[in-house]
Amino acid sequence: MFQLAIVSGKGGTGKTTLAGSLSSLFDSIVMADCDVDAPNLHLILENKLIEKFEYYGGKKAEISDQCISCGLCEKFCRFDAIIRGGPYSIDPYACEGCGMCVAICPANAISLKDNKSGDYFLSQSNEIPLVHALLTPGEETSGGLVAEVRKLAINVAEKGKKEIIIIDGAPGIGCPATSSITGATYVLAVAEPTVSGNHDLARIVETIRHFKRDFGIVINKWDLNTSKSAFIESWCGANGIELLGKIPFDEQVEKATIIGKPVVAMDDSVAAQAIKRIALRLKRKIFGGVEE
Ligand code: SF4
Ligand code: SF4
Repeated sequence: MFQLAIVSGKGGTGKTTLAGSLSSLFDSIVMADCDVDAPNLHLILENKLIEKFEYYGGKKAEISDQCISCGLCEKFCRFDAIIRGGPYSIDPYACEGCGMCVAICPANAISLKDNKSGDYFLSQSNEIPLVHALLTPGEETSGGLVAEVRKLAINVAEKGKKEIIIIDGAPGIGCPATSSITGATYVLAVAEPTVSGNHDLARIVETIRHFKRDFGIVINKWDLNTSKSAFIESWCGANGIELLGKIPFDEQVEKATIIGKPVVAMDDSVAAQAIKRIALRLKRKIFGGVEE
């Protein structure tokens, strides 16, 4: 099964626009949105909820009324998660679930409980399975939730005998982003021709290379800054990186987003034409020998 991950050095580079459009241009696919902090792929794909799952990432301490208010837990908690009182209580946002307080409590008043950190969903968009998720605000176990999204997407793909999983990756180079990259057969990094774009691109390329993934670059809105785009192109050439395409700025993209459609569904879209050429190049990689 081919896993295509679309990533970027930071958010807002057009990654989801590209992923949403590719969903219309490929057959036999499962879509997976691995941006669990701010998912929006389901907003541009028609979306019917099939099933919802709860995600438990890590544990949190809980204090019962057996507490004798000795204050030991407050002294030993290095995350300042203990709230003084009678009985004492826990600040769930500060608690890291390390278990130290459980070990030292003389009254056996503390226990660690599973902590619900978010939900993940199986939806359907025009007969295409879509797996997406939402991390509870303030929770930090996004890498684990991304792993659940990928696991479910693989399951669904195997059961439905689908050939490709298209992953809309988490932006940046943190834990959820690397969880999107590991296991991918091919990574498509979306760059933007801005002052910070080169720096973001270099960081994400370094991350992809660290995980030894096969990858290529797409420059989005390339014509907004032709000299920066030219710089990225020559940088790719100098570093032996494949440039899979350049998508021009197109007002149709924003119009498509407003009406909740992939841009390839819009007539006369120059961005859509470029995305279709990129899709053909990707198909050649996956299946070989598809004519342009
Ligand atoms: S260590 Fe146990 S008994 Fe002492 S304050 Fe904490 S919870 Fe209460
Ligand atoms: S589990 Fe660790 S972090 Fe949480 S309250 Fe106890 S000592 Fe503090």
